[in-house]
Amino acid sequence: MAMANKIGRVPVREQDPKVRATNFEEVCYGYNVDEAMLEATRCLHCKNPRCVGACPVGIQIPEFIAKVKDGDFAGAAAVIAEDSSLPAICGRVCPQETQCEGSCILGIKGESVAIGKLERFVADWTREQGQAPAAAIAPSNGKKVAIIGSGPSGLACAADLAKLGYDVTIFEALHRPGGVLEYGIPEFRLPKDKVVAAEIEAVKALGVKIELDVIIGRTVTIDSLMDKEGFEAVFVGSGAGLPRFMGIPGENANGVFSANEFLTRNNLMKAFRPDYLTPIHAGKQCVVVGGGNVAMDAARTALRLGAETTIVYRRTEVELPARKEEVHHAHEEGVEFKMLTNPVEVLADEKGWVRAIKCIRMELGEPDASGRRSPIPIEGSEFEIPCDTVIMALGTSPNPLIAQTTGGLETNRRGCLVADEHGATTRPGIFAGGDAVTGAATVILAMGAGRKAAAAIHEYLSTK
Ligand SMILES: Cc1cc2nc3c(=O)[nH]c(=O)nc-3n(C[C@H](O)[C@H](O)[C@H](O)COP(=O)(O)OP(=O)(O)OC[C@H]3O[C@@H](n4cnc5c(N)ncnc54)[C@H](O)[C@@H]3O)c2cc1C
Ligand code: SF4
Repeated sequence: MAMANKIGRVPVREQDPKVRATNFEEVCYGYNVDEAMLEATRCLHCKNPRCVGACPVGIQIPEFIAKVKDGDFAGAAAVIAEDSSLPAICGRVCPQETQCEGSCILGIKGESVAIGKLERFVADWTREQGQAPAAAIAPSNGKKVAIIGSGPSGLACAADLAKLGYDVTIFEALHRPGGVLEYGIPEFRLPKDKVVAAEIEAVKALGVKIELDVIIGRTVTIDSLMDKEGFEAVFVGSGAGLPRFMGIPGENANGVFSANEFLTRNNLMKAFRPDYLTPIHAGKQCVVVGGGNVAMDAARTALRLGAETTIVYRRTEVELPARKEEVHHAHEEGVEFKMLTNPVEVLADEKGWVRAIKCIRMELGEPDASGRRSPIPIEGSEFEIPCDTVIMALGTSPNPLIAQTTGGLETNRRGCLVADEHGATTRPGIFAGGDAVTGAATVILAMGAGRKAAAAIHEYLSTK
């Protein structure tokens, strides 16, 4: 213990920023065995661990870290597997600084334990050694459950139901499963074949079937799944994939994209790979509007595709909603940040292509309903940033298709499905969770919602 308190957080090795700004290889290398075991010695194994309370799926963090310290990595993986089916993904993309690590007791006076990096290490080690924990699966109960969407909420719900003995089928609109994990988050943060596909395979190994290229509400409706195909319950985890725009003049110019389209072309349709012919236009000078993870991902992708890239955000860097690590990485790679700046018009050339974005400078006023100080335009401060591409990363809403094609499903004024804390919607037998209910949020919250809904579906079908 004495040693534990003396060492600082073990740094993690990363690709050199100058090199990685030109490739799509993973930025962070993660811990090796020695680094992970050393970092694990820093945990104090608190009696009332604040870190566990701050994990939306309640992973027994000190328990798994104790096993890492002892070199029992398979044992650590088994502890994590009790609560999470996607640890290599969460270890890479969860906003740990506001969750487990943000609550770690060591963080009060110094540096928190690197819980995320340890989770990632355990998941990667067990996958590479072929030692993934075997899950206990109950005998089949013959009951069919349909899951709409193969993002983290759908995968987590499916995994829990399969372990309980249900016959689970996921219906996915796209040609690859994973939701945002596959089409949104770039390869350099979350490798697709090595990590995402491998964790989805582990969910399939529980008996979960995945039907791709099926758009619920177009190919087939929820009503026909329930009335004609024998599904006794449905979980809707269809996410929030509908991009928002600013509604400013010139936004229809050629060269203006939603981050959603830009990232989908690159990640799902592999535009960054020379062996794929998907067209993508990053331009020479690219402006990304927004300050969340999506904005960072779009900017860092455009940079890697060869554009000088600037992020424009209407508040200051303190209020940026993106994960700190992503902001730090974007800075290191050479993305320029223009804070307290808001676009007012997109300017096009005579052929209708973007030539500049006109912005106005902002200052911060009184705190608004979100507790953050509201940005106020400074009159007469307009200026232009020359650019040939604009990417709007302003947030997304749920696609209305499912609510429109399923009777009895209520939505709120933001277009999100109405569901209680267990995921029950306004129609019996239909449950929902993740971004489709909350609006754009996080992977782990979506997983937590999927797990809660799985428990509620089990209760519903056991008592029906
Ligand atoms: C670019 C980007 C970066 C992000 N970075 C992070 C991050 O670093 N950390 C973090 O925690 N969170 C991050 N997020 C947010 C996080 O990815 C989401 O909150 C999470 O994926 C939501 O999971 P979900 O299961 O609700 O939906 P999604 O992941 O959106 O999955 C929904 C799935 O449903 C499918 N679907 C939709 N409609 C239908 C239909 N009618 N029929 C069949 N299938 C349908 C979609 O094709 C999709 O595959 C990021 C989001 C984006 C866009
Ligand atoms: S709060 Fe920090 S030190 Fe305490 S158990 Fe959790 S990770 Fe370990």
